Amino acid sequence: MDNKSPLDYFDVFPWNPSFEVGIQEIDEQHQQLVFLLNRLVNTLVNDESISIDAAFTELAEYADFHFIAEEKIWSEHLKDDEWVASHQHNHASFLPQVLELKQQNSDKPYHEVIEDIARFLIRWLAFHIIDEDKRLAIAIKAMQQGDSLDQAKQKAELEIDDSIHLLIDIVLQMYDNLSSRTLNLMRERKARIQAERELKQINKQLEKLSITDQLTGLFNRRHFETVFDSEIRRARRDSKALCLILFDIDFFKKLNDRYGHSVGDQALQKVAALLQDTCRRPADFAFRIGGEEFAIISTGDTINNGIDFAELIRKAIADLNIANEDSEVERRLTISAGIVATIPEQADSLDTLLSVADKQLYQAKANGRNQVSVAS
Ligand code: GH3
Ligand code: MG
Ligand code: MG
Repeated sequence: MDNKSPLDYFDVFPWNPSFEVGIQEIDEQHQQLVFLLNRLVNTLVNDESISIDAAFTELAEYADFHFIAEEKIWSEHLKDDEWVASHQHNHASFLPQVLELKQQNSDKPYHEVIEDIARFLIRWLAFHIIDEDKRLAIAIKAMQQGDSLDQAKQKAELEIDDSIHLLIDIVLQMYDNLSSRTLNLMRERKARIQAERELKQINKQLEKLSITDQLTGLFNRRHFETVFDSEIRRARRDSKALCLILFDIDFFKKLNDRYGHSVGDQALQKVAALLQDTCRRPADFAFRIGGEEFAIISTGDTINNGIDFAELIRKAIADLNIANEDSEVERRLTISAGIVATIPEQADSLDTLLSVADKQLYQAKANGRNQVSVAS
């Protein structure tokens, strides 16, 4: 069963040596039919729609092959006796019945479909093997021992008498119960796996939600701290330059006051989208860390990489041409940025680097805004 655990696979119809009719070729084929039946029921329960069709086809094709082989053996010995004819008729009705079951059940609840199909197949196979084939095999054996055809058939009828029919019924009843129990178990297991999968999905969504800023979709302040922590370690280990950029929108209050809060929100979203777009490298991360304040963590080969990156972003945001008529810098939305870029040492931490970047941001504002200021 590939890499599946034993729990994934059940024999709903376990093979039993008493099913043997005593003709090796036929017994081997019967055993294979039972194996294919079990596999089909398993694919039905696991709802592997690709394998369901394959399993149906394989069972149908093998049944076809088996019927031909078997009819050849029976008619060799019994010529065109009515038993053989009726057996052939039975064979011929098998495939259409299976196909009909497979098709007609589309509007039934899924588990009922599986049970219908499994029951039909189990019953059909059991009667086919235990009753008909055994009867034919007994007759053949009797003829080989010198009985006439009529005597042999009589003998077979006697041996497959009421007690055997009763036994068949008991066995089938047992299989019915057993298989619905098994199917229930399998169904419960499947439902549980589904529930676990959904729970995992929900957890994933929750996790994502807890690190995401609702308005802009950027990572939030909380995640900023987590990412900073892992990035500073990585930069130390690989001797890379860690760059921390703090942005603050210039005169954003004036934008809000003039155009309204919701236009302000849209401006924040446009700025965030640009940051998202610019931070596509796996080593660049953008965050909204406050009202109109953003941060970028960027790890690169040189300190200058980070400084150039900040300047590029400042320019790109101005080029969004978001109107801010009342701004005292330009008549459009601009930002100021404070940068610290360093190959971090043990003493560097979020607090120390953040306070340096913050000082630089203050400096950029004091120097006239719409610019980046780098710690020397
Ligand atoms: P400065 O250039 O000195 O940074 O001036 P400023 O007006 O940008 O700074 P200030 O701190 O005076 O004002 C920030 C404004 O940002 C005030 C606040 O209402 C606004 N703001 C904060 N969060 C949001 C938000 O989520 N949506 C909107 N529309 N406005 C916000
Ligand atoms: Mg601010
Ligand atoms: Mg501001």
